[in-house]
Amino acid sequence: MTVELICVGTELLLGNIVNTNAAWLAEQCAALGLSCYYQTVVGDNAQRLAGILRTGLERSDILILSGGLGPTQDDLTKETAAQVCGKRLIEDARSLSRIEDYFRERGLKMTDNNRKQALVPEGAVVVDNDNGTAPGIILEKDGKHIVLLPGPPNELTPMFEKSIAPWLLSLNPNGPAVIYSRTVKICGLGESGVESLITDLEAHENPTVAPYAKTGEVHLRVTARAADEKAAKKLVKPVVKELERRFGRAVYTTKNEVTLEEAVARLLKKNGLTAATVESCTGGLLAGRLVNVPGVSDVFKSGFVTYSNKAKRRHVGVKKETLQKYGAVSPQTAEEMAVGGAKAAGADVAVSITGIAGPDGGTDEKPVGLVYMACFVCGNVWVEKFHFKGNRAKIREASVAAALTLMRSCILEVFG
Ligand code: ATP
Repeated sequence: MTVELICVGTELLLGNIVNTNAAWLAEQCAALGLSCYYQTVVGDNAQRLAGILRTGLERSDILILSGGLGPTQDDLTKETAAQVCGKRLIEDARSLSRIEDYFRERGLKMTDNNRKQALVPEGAVVVDNDNGTAPGIILEKDGKHIVLLPGPPNELTPMFEKSIAPWLLSLNPNGPAVIYSRTVKICGLGESGVESLITDLEAHENPTVAPYAKTGEVHLRVTARAADEKAAKKLVKPVVKELERRFGRAVYTTKNEVTLEEAVARLLKKNGLTAATVESCTGGLLAGRLVNVPGVSDVFKSGFVTYSNKAKRRHVGVKKETLQKYGAVSPQTAEEMAVGGAKAAGADVAVSITGIAGPDGGTDEKPVGLVYMACFVCGNVWVEKFHFKGNRAKIREASVAAALTLMRSCILEVFG
């Protein structure tokens, strides 16, 4: 079966919002074993959208649309899809009562516009929206399907997972009934290095192994299709084991929901350690990542943002001579920041970051993207030098991921 993704919204065409729905839906469809040959973005224009729908129906089995289901004048996805399928819009009683409940529960006044969201094309399957007002809709035309999903990702994602994915699987009764996947998450290795070690596994069809590059991490998603979950898990398990064998300590988790900061927090907890962060160019981003983890207060003591030289001296005791002789962006300063941070916070572990995030401030000797980090763990100190590429935001984000990876590897070095 072939699917085609159509994202509706003038905001997307103008570049005001990034089309994350397309990327997410494409990934989901691939995991479901559906082939997606076309993706389109079209503005809030009925005529152009109708043209795209007609073309799509000629070349694909299922069209999945996102956006334009809202209550306003420019939301015309539903009306246009109904017209292309030759259906009238009728009021769906269940949707209307869900919309009324939605407004009542939140103490909001419902307008006539909102009532428009309960209109659905005659004969369509209506899909509940648990996180908003616009229901999803599945329409059929000459054996082909059009699926309409709301634009906001926090509505689209759960609706797809709960209702649309099982429906897509059910369309192919002879095909496998479940898709199961696990993600092997790797830190501290680049995408090409990881890929070069899995080319044999990438050639497999069931389970498939697909790499996804994230900042400072590579995720390997192992996905199996089988008649039931037990059989799918059985296919996935040996491949996950094999990846763990190949990548060893660089694998920080094989659980889909565990993040790098969570893995670091767990490691601290497991070894009865407390931690502090000392940040210059990342200005608190690292502390922010750690605080993403619920319950991190058990292990995280302090986050120092020591942006100026004065702050580096005052808060974590970096020596004046060190700053004068080597500069703020130097291995010596990074080391003193980590050691001083651990002392000031009374923590067992402290990681420091000092670098040049740009766009200004770089020199031949110390270019933009040069970052030093140090990690103190119970009396031991490691210092690392990095050259990150990209703009200021990218350099800061990459620094944070590298600092988490450094913390993890230094703790493992000491505690195994
Ligand atoms: P609503 O009921 O909120 O009006 P809708 O189905 O009409 O939803 P749109 O009005 O098209 O959806 O978009 C609402 C918001 O959803 C956008 O402002 C944007 O934040 C987000 N959104 C829409 N389409 C996408 C997309 N393709 N990728 C990411 N976000 C999107």
